[in-house]
Amino acid sequence: MDCLFCKIAAGEIPSAKVYEDDKVLAFKDIEPQAPFHVLIIPKEHIASAGEINSDNSGIVAHIFEVTAALAKEHNLTDGFRLVTNCGVQAGQTVQHLHFHMLAGRNLGWPPG
Ligand code: 5GP
Ligand code: ZN
Repeated sequence: MDCLFCKIAAGEIPSAKVYEDDKVLAFKDIEPQAPFHVLIIPKEHIASAGEINSDNSGIVAHIFEVTAALAKEHNLTDGFRLVTNCGVQAGQTVQHLHFHMLAGRNLGWPPG
C-alpha cells in the first residue's frame, strides 16, 4: 500500500522520533505549526478517525496514554492540543490516522 505514514512507521522513510513502541510511533511534524508539534500514529494502517470501530478502538486509548506521558516528559504544563483531521473539509492530507499534538504557544479557538 502506498501510504506515507505506513512507510514512516516501518522506518522506510526517516522521521524525527519522539516515542515508539510496538503499536504506535510519535514523530515531529515536518511543517510544525507550534513550537511543539508531534504526530502520533498507530503502526497499523487505519485511514482516519472515521474508521474507528470496536475492533480497533483500543489503539486510540493507547495513543491518549502516550500523549499524556509525552506531555509530562516534555513539561507541557501550560497545556496542549490533541486534534485529528478527518476528511476533506477538516483538511486531512495524509490518509493514515494521526493525532496532532500541539503546544508551546496560545492556540486559537475555534480553529480556522
Ligand atoms: P493532516 O493535514 O492530514 O491533518 O496532517 C498531515 C501532517 O503530516 C501535516 O501537518 C504535515 O506537515 C505532516 N507531514 C506530511 N508529510 C510528512 C513527512 O514526510 N514527515 C513528517 N514528519 N510529517 C509530514
Ligand atoms: Zn498507512
